Amino acid sequence: MAKGDHVVVSNMKLEKLLCMKGGKGEGSYANNSQAQALHARSMLHLLEETLDKVHLNSPEFPFQVADLGCSSGNNTIHIVDVIIKHMTKRYESSGLDSPEFSVFFADLPSNDFNTLFQLLPPLADYGVSMEECLAASGHRNYFAAGVPGSFYRRLFPARSIDVFHSAFSLHWLSQIPESVLDKRSAAYNKGRVFIHGATESTANAYRKQFQTDLAGFLSARSQEMKRGGSMFLVCLGRTSVEPTDQGGAGLLFATHFQDAWDDLVQEGLIASEKRDNFNIPVYAPSLQDFKEVVEANGSFAIDKLEVFKGGSPLVVNHPDNAAEVSRAMANSCRSVAGVLVDAHIGDELSEELFSRVELRAKSHAKELLEKLQFFHIVASLSFA
Ligand code: SAH
Repeated sequence: MAKGDHVVVSNMKLEKLLCMKGGKGEGSYANNSQAQALHARSMLHLLEETLDKVHLNSPEFPFQVADLGCSSGNNTIHIVDVIIKHMTKRYESSGLDSPEFSVFFADLPSNDFNTLFQLLPPLADYGVSMEECLAASGHRNYFAAGVPGSFYRRLFPARSIDVFHSAFSLHWLSQIPESVLDKRSAAYNKGRVFIHGATESTANAYRKQFQTDLAGFLSARSQEMKRGGSMFLVCLGRTSVEPTDQGGAGLLFATHFQDAWDDLVQEGLIASEKRDNFNIPVYAPSLQDFKEVVEANGSFAIDKLEVFKGGSPLVVNHPDNAAEVSRAMANSCRSVAGVLVDAHIGDELSEELFSRVELRAKSHAKELLEKLQFFHIVASLSFA
């Protein structure tokens, strides 16, 4: 029996397992999400345009914001701060009293909410006047709560949320399509751990899963959103029509990461089937893939729907230093897929795998920095 074969959690429901790497260590999401922060910053003007459309409620009701797929790190806290400040300004300039704000940080139950809660700034003193409260920097002017559960289903009471925000999360599928794991199926992803460069059947099974998931997401939100509310969504996207070309996500998960899995197989550390049963549950949709679902749902007006150039997921201080670039590549892969790999082959082999990703990336550092570029789908949807 090969070493990884005794680990049998691979069929466990993805939503019980999936999370970004918690804590604040080297491979953690909190420490490897500067790229997402930069990409989010480049889209702030689009977020603000979305917020400008939201109806202002009467101040006796709390204004409620939810960040879906918040993960654990500073990104969600920063974005929420932007949203609250922008809405406060809008209330001020319209001469209305500002309502109290409530923010829900939502993610799957295995998300490291503890780290997130510890990063939250202290609540401003609500005993003091609103003006003093707003002036208190380093404090938050909203009540915070964590919400565990899949955003592909209901998470909130009907008509309770004014603004939904979700960044870099909707490309995570709720599950690997069964056909992709079924040896007898044409969609079986033999030899691969991702759909980039896979067969059309495999990629189409992923596309279908993505569209089913997004339909569930929109249907849940259409019940939870207040009339006059808006939603700002960003997820990985691709510019190619073909789903077998996953763009930046393809480079991240189908080159050195794939080769590292093949190394483990060739060295007899895992059986080839063990590798074939591992698939990255990510799908970078095209604009068309996304649009079809929003239109079929029909509850939301599309204020904006476009592909936006994001940039590289590798943030390094010394681009000429191959060791630093390859380390960033391995950490970047690990912070998002590490938990799934650990569960599939155990911690020890996972360690081996990611050190091979790093090793292999080292001789391609320059190429990686140039070619590993992400595109994002940005959607601004409002609910009339
Ligand atoms: N929004 C953050 C984090 C993005 S990481 C940022 O901008 O940096 C993606 C997050 O989506 C992860 O924390 C993951 O657990 C979450 N996620 C993936 N699928 C989910 C689902 N079905 N329901 C809720 N959260 C999900």
